[in-house]
Amino acid sequence: MDSEQRTVYEHIMAEVKAVGARLVAVSKTKPQQEIASYYALGQRDFGENRVQEVVDKAAALPDDIRWHFIGHLQRNKVKYIAPFVHLIHAVDSWRLLVEINKQAANNERIIDVLLQFHIAEEDSKYGLDLDRARALLAEPGRADLRHVRIVGVMGMATYTDVDEQIASEFEQLKHIFEVLQAEYFVDDASFTEISMGMSGDYPLALERGSTLVRLGSVLFGSRH
Ligand SMILES: *Cc1c(COP(=O)(O)O)cnc(C)c1O
Repeated sequence: MDSEQRTVYEHIMAEVKAVGARLVAVSKTKPQQEIASYYALGQRDFGENRVQEVVDKAAALPDDIRWHFIGHLQRNKVKYIAPFVHLIHAVDSWRLLVEINKQAANNERIIDVLLQFHIAEEDSKYGLDLDRARALLAEPGRADLRHVRIVGVMGMATYTDVDEQIASEFEQLKHIFEVLQAEYFVDDASFTEISMGMSGDYPLALERGSTLVRLGSVLFGSRH
């Protein structure tokens, strides 16, 4: 890590801390030694989006790293990350939630998850809307899922230069969070997280209530 990278990191940390949010350093595709240099600066939250990659990195790197799984997660792979994952950001189906609960129980853990929402204009097969989220939260079996805890929401804005559009999508996610909190989590103090903001748009996300920004390229350089 050179001094310029270190200055960038310290700058971003100051912005993130100023609003009480946290930084997830998205280390996907990046080698272990680059993760270790951020670890040496005190960074503990890292984000990955491939199961095999995070399993390998978790085995090789210090135990007090909090691994965030930020990508689409297939049900048949939950078992590989269940022993150690800190937060799963992209839950968008009841069946996935049930599987996470099952694998968490096998590991005698409670795993925290976020519900992923589709807020961008681009088509995507992933992510809920408010109606589907309500249906998921109203599933009769939900109270039996004692090993999974829904702690907030996650979303990705449209990839565009138009700040007004990005800002309005982040406001939409914040609104969804507030609606769900009022309808389903009034007595649940752990429903607190809004995971939004990437390298290109995180200042807008922090202004609109993000609690977790997920930053890759601004920290590690571009991915090829
Ligand atoms: C890759 C990725 C990021 C980080 O993207 P950058 O633009 O490099 O900051 C954030 N969130 C998700 C879900 C990702 O897949």
